[in-house]
Amino acid sequence: MTAEHEVVVVGAGFAGIAAALELEAAGIADVVILERAGDLGGTWRDNTYPGVACDVPAHLYTLARHPWPHWSREFAPGAEIQAYLRRVAASTGIDGRIRFDTALAEAHWDGDAWALQTTRGARRARMLILACGRLTEPSIPQVHGLAAFPGPVVHSARWDPTLAVAGTRIAVVGTGASGVQMVPELVRRGAAVTLFQRSAPWVLPRGGRTYTDAERHRFASRPDVLAALREELFQEGEARHASRAGDAAAAAAASDQALAHLRAHVTDPALRASLTPNYAFGCKRVLLSDDFYPAVASDAVTLEPSALARVDADTLVAASGRRHTVDAVVLATGFRATRQPYADLITGEDGISLDEHWATGMSSALSTIVSGFPNLFILNGPNASLGHNSSLLMLEEQAAYAARTIAARPTGAILRPDPVAEQAYTDMIVRRSRTTAWVTGGCRSWYVDERSGRLTLLWPGTVTEFRAQLRAADGTEFLREPATERSTTP
Ligand SMILES: Cc1cc2nc3c(=O)[nH]c(=O)nc-3n(C[C@H](O)[C@H](O)[C@H](O)COP(=O)(O)OP(=O)(O)OC[C@H]3O[C@@H](n4cnc5c(N)ncnc54)[C@H](O)[C@@H]3O)c2cc1C
Repeated sequence: MTAEHEVVVVGAGFAGIAAALELEAAGIADVVILERAGDLGGTWRDNTYPGVACDVPAHLYTLARHPWPHWSREFAPGAEIQAYLRRVAASTGIDGRIRFDTALAEAHWDGDAWALQTTRGARRARMLILACGRLTEPSIPQVHGLAAFPGPVVHSARWDPTLAVAGTRIAVVGTGASGVQMVPELVRRGAAVTLFQRSAPWVLPRGGRTYTDAERHRFASRPDVLAALREELFQEGEARHASRAGDAAAAAAASDQALAHLRAHVTDPALRASLTPNYAFGCKRVLLSDDFYPAVASDAVTLEPSALARVDADTLVAASGRRHTVDAVVLATGFRATRQPYADLITGEDGISLDEHWATGMSSALSTIVSGFPNLFILNGPNASLGHNSSLLMLEEQAAYAARTIAARPTGAILRPDPVAEQAYTDMIVRRSRTTAWVTGGCRSWYVDERSGRLTLLWPGTVTEFRAQLRAADGTEFLREPATERSTTP
């Protein structure tokens, strides 16, 4: 017998857990979560490289209804974030809904519900919520000779804890968020690092310190103090939006701050020039770090200011022609973000897959629903990422919208997203992003789909705007059901 459910959620990261919590709060009991791995946590389960941490303050990178007074520091390390999510899932009983080691392999709309094939058998779901993440599949550069490198080669999201670091010559490829967090920690652990940098990142000071016992005690005994801190952090995040979204004065002030940060830590003019970005502030994710520049300026790091071009046995050859002999290679090369792996698995009405529907890049209405895919919600998918504030604010809002919409649905009704609503939403994103640094800033970034040049991952507005649009949704984003129309006709 095929197991049948009112709602199946795919993925037990923050989005999947948030969705299950919201569904439960909305009174929907028949919910299971499918998780392909043996543990929950998504990003924070998979990314265990040295130095991994969140660059959003911990009290904001927390589910709204599950504050945690005991964060150890202002910016939490990855393992502490995973422990937090495990604690939330256990204390709410949501962990009992998770089916671990169960990957969604295929889903198609059968006219009435979603027919799912998983690695542990078939299931049927009236409603399907995809919470599969967006930074899950490592992007591995196709570099001639890399496969024959004689030492270890690891990707940052598949860290090997047995990798010897102290006294090892390690090439780190990439200066995105993971590379910038990892390099200072590898140096602290005694590695000699050669850092391959295709383009210099914009880096702002981070700050962040350990909370004292007294502070944590105060947060625990005074929920109002904690709530006020969260609100302050939220507003600080919202204020950062202008500098990323095309406000020239705000971008100039922020880039001046970043360049002053660089000057303060790097005195060698040639090294400083190599570390100066050659594209507009905000075009790619702006990074936060206090120890990256000091590490790169130290004797332990050699900056190679060009891409890895090929590998010649144990020697990495840069695009500049320089050669670097190393013992291990760490690929901090990010993720395949614009083409989501789950899109291939989902076939909607008319036999069209989500990947085919997104042939020129992801699109949606309200960043959450897609025409041709009834009774389906996608969290943290198209235009739902942020460069200025906590991702959790977005995915919790989407989870609440999905739960509200499912709960309000008349029994048996099918929610068919309106293609006109999807086109209007896509046009709005194009209009809003046309003149921003994300699109015109002169960089190559995962925010923008290479097939269309459209901004497909980032939400171009503030969180406040995103919340307002989802809370204002009144059902007109769905087509009217023919049955409903008939019943109103005398
Ligand atoms: C290194 C790193 C640092 C980050 N730092 C920040 C930060 O500082 N601030 C911030 O706001 N965001 C940050 N992010 C973004 C982060 O991904 C989000 O904040 C958030 O954790 C995403 O949660 P999620 O549940 O949407 O996705 P994920 O955490 O990726 O979870 C998705 C889950 O779905 C499962 N899954 C996928 N496909 C299937 C399938 N077919 N069947 C079953 N299960 C499946 C996966 O195994 C995974 O457990 C960072 C991301 C990375 C990679």
